[in-house]
Amino acid sequence: MIALFINIFSWFVKCWLNNIESTEQNAHPKISLLPCPRCGSYHTIKNGSTHNGKPKRQCKDCGRQFVINPNNQTISTEKKQLINKLLLERISLRGIARVTGVSWSWLQNYVNNKFSAVPRQVRVSEKSKGNLIIECDEMWSFVFCKKIKVFIWLAIDRSTREIIGCYLGDRSRQSAKKLYSSLPLVYQQCAIAYTDFWESYKTVIPRKRHRAVGKETGQTNHIVREALP
Ligand SMILES: [Zn+2]
Repeated sequence: MIALFINIFSWFVKCWLNNIESTEQNAHPKISLLPCPRCGSYHTIKNGSTHNGKPKRQCKDCGRQFVINPNNQTISTEKKQLINKLLLERISLRGIARVTGVSWSWLQNYVNNKFSAVPRQVRVSEKSKGNLIIECDEMWSFVFCKKIKVFIWLAIDRSTREIIGCYLGDRSRQSAKKLYSSLPLVYQQCAIAYTDFWESYKTVIPRKRHRAVGKETGQTNHIVREALP
């Protein structure tokens, strides 16, 4: 009987202590076991979870969101090399993330950084001014959902098959202009440009050197076949 009483008493004390602990936590929400990785503050709050269920917290001082015990903090050089190869194979980002085990957001960031490091104007081998012929075309793809269309504008040199201009954007005249201004100067000044009948080209390429043609003429075969498979 006494043993039972002691048990009940100790259970009661335990509950009471737990209660004090949790009210202390509520009274001082700054107390957290995990400091913010950016500013070191302990003033953090729960902030949902990642797509694979890891709890996230957010720093109340600097706003940084972070994952508790992230499992892939550093990506090895070997893994990055593999990712580079997979990117060249045009495999989807989600596919690459699944296969290599990196997080999707890390990969998106990695690709964005690579993209911003690419020079906007391509360097081409020295060209003589006569007889330059280019072919331009645009294809579209979608980002996230079919509503968000992105057009890839490309220009190639017909004789060398070099891609000499590229622009990503919508299908507007502004984008055609950006494609044209991405061409090395010698092409902007001298090249004859074959395009489809999309009217944005007309207002951007000088009329004397612009040939708008249908696919059946074969004049845009190279770009259709080789650059935009
Ligand atoms: Zn912080």
